[in-house]
Formats: sequence, structure tokens, C-alpha cells
Amino acid sequence: KEITIAIDGWSSCGKSTLAKALAKSLNFVYVDSGAMYRGVALYALRKDLVSPSHANEEEIIKGLSDITLTFSNNDKGSADLYLNGENVEQEIRTITVSNVVSAVAKIKEVRSFLVAQQRKMGEDGGVVMDGRDIGSVVFPNAELKLFVTADPEIRAQRRYDELQAKGDNVSFDEVRENLKMRDEMDKNREESPLIQTEDAVVLDNSNLSPAEQLQESLKLVEA
Ligand code: C5P
Repeated sequence: KEITIAIDGWSSCGKSTLAKALAKSLNFVYVDSGAMYRGVALYALRKDLVSPSHANEEEIIKGLSDITLTFSNNDKGSADLYLNGENVEQEIRTITVSNVVSAVAKIKEVRSFLVAQQRKMGEDGGVVMDGRDIGSVVFPNAELKLFVTADPEIRAQRRYDELQAKGDNVSFDEVRENLKMRDEMDKNREESPLIQTEDAVVLDNSNLSPAEQLQESLKLVEA
């Protein structure tokens, strides 16, 4: 059986870039757990159950039984998220969803709903999963755990550039505030807060290119 690689860390610190590259070079499956939280957040937004300042937790929990999330490979070598059969990959990446996702992700029932699916996706090994609680909750026995960090200004700049490139007309300040807000909420929530587990290897990629970051990580896989 192939190993499981858990990648956690702060918002926009390059986790998914690394996870995708690792999966590609090891021929593993990549699972973006954050996309699943974003999918639930999009559902809640469409039903008017969440705003940046408030989540109607009770109704969101009731809605979970109406939500089916699936991934399907796209032609870019990664996978798109589908919400009840609809490709929502573009929509879940907007700042509108980013501004409410952490309020949805702190709901205990939302987490157990998604964690169960994530465990199933990784039960056969050969998977790289990134998120906030992968090494701590989803796969506490993962053979390799990485905790990725980067300087907050660098993270904000990277995310800003990414959104601009997609034509999302958002200001740098809004992006920076969003990352700060999500980090705060993710580390302070009651249920599965973002933590760095003792057995995780810390990777600060502030000054690493994606290729260097991949190289460092592959050394750890071989070790
Ligand atoms: O990874 P990404 O930034 O797309 O995740 C969006 C949000 O989903 C995070 O800010 C966090 O609130 C939540 N999340 C989580 N647990 C995970 C993955 C994401 O709480 N495993």
C-alpha cells in the first residue's frame, strides 16, 4: 500500500501547489479538502444561509443531506469540484466564497460530514491531501505530514496575483484581510482548529520556488 501525505498550513501558503506537484510526481491522487468546505459554503450562500458576519448553522446542517460533492479530472491535470452535478470550480475560488467559508467550516456537523468523505477517499493510500486538519484529524497516522508556512505579505501577494489573473477585481487589502481573518478563525475555532502536529515537518516556502519546494518534499518522501 502506498503512503498517505498530509499537508496543512495557513491560507494561501502554497499548499495546493505543492500537493498537486507531489501527487503528479508520485502518481498519487490529490485531494483538495478546502474545495469541499468551499462547496458547502457556496451552497449556503446560494440559500442565503451565510454572510461574512453570520452563519445560520441550524439550516446549514439541515442542508447537508442535500449536498453531494464530487471531484472530476479536468484537462489541466487537476480536478474540478462538482456540487450536485454542477461544476463549481470557478465559483468556489471567488472572494465572495472565501469571505464566508471559515464561518461554515467551524460548524462541527459540516466537519464530520466532510471528514468522513475525505477518509474514504484516502483509505487505500497513495493520496496527497491538503487542508487545515489533515494531519491532526483526517489522517493522524499519515506517513508524512507537512506543515507549510510563508510570510503573510508574500501569501497575500501570491493570492492577489492569482485572483487578478483570473479577472477577479479585488483589492490587495481585501485579499490580505481575508487571509488574516481566515487564519484567525481557523486557528481559534473549537472544532479541529488548525494546529501544527508534533510529527509534522515545517516547510517555510517564503523564499522557495515551487520546484525547490517540491524537491525538498520529495527528499522527505524518500527518507
Ligand atoms: O484550502 P482553502 O484555503 O481553499 O480552504 C478554505 C477554507 O476552508 C479555510 O480557510 C478553512 O476555513 C476551511 N478548511 C478547513 N479544513 C480543511 C480545509 C479547509 O477548515 N481541511
